[in-house]
Amino acid sequence: MRRVLVAGNWKMHKVPSEARIWLAELKRLLPPLESEVAVLPAFPMLPVAREVLSGTQVAYGAQDVSPHREGAYTGEVSARMLADLGCRYTIVGHSERRRYHHETDALVAEKAKRLLEEGITPILCVGEPLEVRERGEAVPYTLRQLFESLEGVEPPGPERLVIAYEPVWAIGTGQNATPEDAESMHRAIRQALAELYGEGFARRVRILYGGSVNPKNFADLLSMPNVDGGLVGGASLELESFLSLLRIA
Ligand code: PEP
Repeated sequence: MRRVLVAGNWKMHKVPSEARIWLAELKRLLPPLESEVAVLPAFPMLPVAREVLSGTQVAYGAQDVSPHREGAYTGEVSARMLADLGCRYTIVGHSERRRYHHETDALVAEKAKRLLEEGITPILCVGEPLEVRERGEAVPYTLRQLFESLEGVEPPGPERLVIAYEPVWAIGTGQNATPEDAESMHRAIRQALAELYGEGFARRVRILYGGSVNPKNFADLLSMPNVDGGLVGGASLELESFLSLLRIA
């Protein structure tokens, strides 16, 4: 009852002319899909994604959004702009933004609200750094982050929110969480969401795993009952590896 989602986070890679070629190739080679696929390029590539992917089943979206609706906020990009460009998803609270831009849970919650107001599904990232896992506090840390990043967020429909569990120590390191560790965190997240938004919501909301997903480990991660897909960085940049992930999903 939960459709697998494979979302490629391109981070600050590619330029629009490269994206145009890459997306056109993806469109040409796309296997028949039961799962859902999304690409999340940097802002300047979104008009290209709209143009190339129109009429396909590939969704696209951004990696961040302003917490403000509109106004004198130089350099910011609003949820309304993203909606106008046809974004279905947008990442909020990625650990790289929490770390390099000092984003707090309260800020992440504001961003999620702006997206929901515009009909865009937030992909809300949570996950613990290595020292927290080593102290044995990964679950309480991650759940606190989840609750605080959803503070004041009205219960959306279960298909209108996606959670990505991304242990910080696994991102871009080649060291993924074991399927069992991912599963136990995903189960805890689902229980927490049941407390927050009810059992029905928790049963249907998708929880993605992110952190060094690749064609070798994806099938085992996906075989876990509470892992509903992947948020993929490095392995989403090469078309061949991204296509392999889609075939597995
Ligand atoms: C990410 O960027 O969200 C991510 C999980 O990166 P990687 O797959 O490269 O670890």
